[in-house]
Amino acid sequence: MKVLRSVADVRAWRASAGRVGLVPTMGALHAGHMSLVERAVRETDAAIASIFVNPTQFGPTEDYASYPRREAEDIALLEAHACAAVFVPQSSEIYPPGDSTRVTPGPIAAPLEGAGRPGHFVGVATVVAKLLAIVRPDMAFFGQKDFQQLRVVQTMARDLRFGADIVGCPTVREPDGLAMSSRNAYLTADQRRDAVALSRGLFRARELWEQGERTPVRLSNAVRRYTDAPAIALEYVSVADPLTLTELELGAPVDSAVISLAARIGKARLIDNVLLGMDVADLR
Ligand code: AMP
Repeated sequence: MKVLRSVADVRAWRASAGRVGLVPTMGALHAGHMSLVERAVRETDAAIASIFVNPTQFGPTEDYASYPRREAEDIALLEAHACAAVFVPQSSEIYPPGDSTRVTPGPIAAPLEGAGRPGHFVGVATVVAKLLAIVRPDMAFFGQKDFQQLRVVQTMARDLRFGADIVGCPTVREPDGLAMSSRNAYLTADQRRDAVALSRGLFRARELWEQGERTPVRLSNAVRRYTDAPAIALEYVSVADPLTLTELELGAPVDSAVISLAARIGKARLIDNVLLGMDVADLR
């Protein structure tokens, strides 16, 4: 596996790589990331992961400084999964001296994570645009775990005519259901036990959906009942249109929805979602 540290390294590697699949990450890799790498390996000639803790997507009071960094382990894990290359840039490689251009997504970035984390999706869209411009992949793989991010990136890649196929991949979960996340490392043992309520609530809503429930308010109430615990500070439970992320009318039946939530448990801010009436693989 090639370890590439500069934009020039990536461009030289890419010239002879054939059909390339990109997996952007912030490192501290787990099985969720690896599922994206496996898809890239399977569906293209050469998989390239990037590891970059992107400063512009963190707010001033967020966890940029404490975000887990495990470069050596990450590189070994990627190599073991047959990744062809990894791009591990310094910040100055992505944000060169004098850098001032930003990509501002449209209304899809306004609610949910965009509302709770001002500027977050400008940082995400900007870094993903830069990675797409540097690597020029044929396909790029993103997790459903960060559903709004997936839709922001799909919309941006379409609008800016990047020409890369942005593929959404299902959320990989711990055996008890908790969505895998690098931020789960912030949880104490007690908090880790409490955190399972988030996925349980979402699974309960999905079960109601499978039994025919189509009314947003009843689905969101099911999630709220499960996540109503002293250790869980729920920021939002949303039932939204999966394409636009606009909130659905609470009382009117729907034929597809994404139920997403954000919650603070101790030092961790966790997000999760379930997609109903639609498959993540069908989104483009
Ligand atoms: P991150 O390193 O958290 O920025 O995530 C990098 C990519 O991995 C993003 O596309 C995430 O959506 C995806 N990802 C993170 N956790 C999971 C998970 N549990 N299952 C599937 N994809 C994930």
